[in-house]
Amino acid sequence: MPKHLPSQLDPRSPLVLDTRELPRRPGALRTVTRVVPAPADLGLEMIGVPEGADLSLDLSLQSVSEGVYVSGTVSGAVQGECGRCLRQIDDSVVVRIQELYAYANSTTDETTEEDEVGRMQGDLIDLEPALRDAVVLALPTNPLCREDCPGLCTDCGVHWDELPADHSHQQVDPRWAGLSQLTRKEE
Ligand SMILES: [Zn+2]
Ligand SMILES: [Zn+2]
Repeated sequence: MPKHLPSQLDPRSPLVLDTRELPRRPGALRTVTRVVPAPADLGLEMIGVPEGADLSLDLSLQSVSEGVYVSGTVSGAVQGECGRCLRQIDDSVVVRIQELYAYANSTTDETTEEDEVGRMQGDLIDLEPALRDAVVLALPTNPLCREDCPGLCTDCGVHWDELPADHSHQQVDPRWAGLSQLTRKEE
């Protein structure tokens, strides 16, 4: 078995973790603390981490018999749009990562499905899929600028915050509408 399996991962890529410095002895530990630019489309349609924004990785890589266990947090700024009033939302997100990356040809590698646990690619770990899953789970599918956002008046599109309490649009009662048509005919 070749010592370094061919890998398509780029070790210089921001979300690729290089474990060459981590002894393959169960219990060995290395920490990864760094700030990397966020990849594109990290999040949901209405809210997510802007591409290139700072992502802070605060992770520990631990050798276990079957591979490398990655745990810790990733945090970053999120930007989105309120689902009710379309105002910009500026927030932040912190996600926990807890993922085993199995060595190639380990028992775990051979006895689990492709999507059950992560896989080492040679000495490299691609953190991106686990990070994407965690971020998507952490973000609201219907983001709001604040919990009680009243949204926009459906008639004029102005935010209810900026409208007086008695704001209304004159509604023509359908019965009166009929009557006014009659009057017009008589004219
Ligand atoms: Zn809102
Ligand atoms: Zn209105």
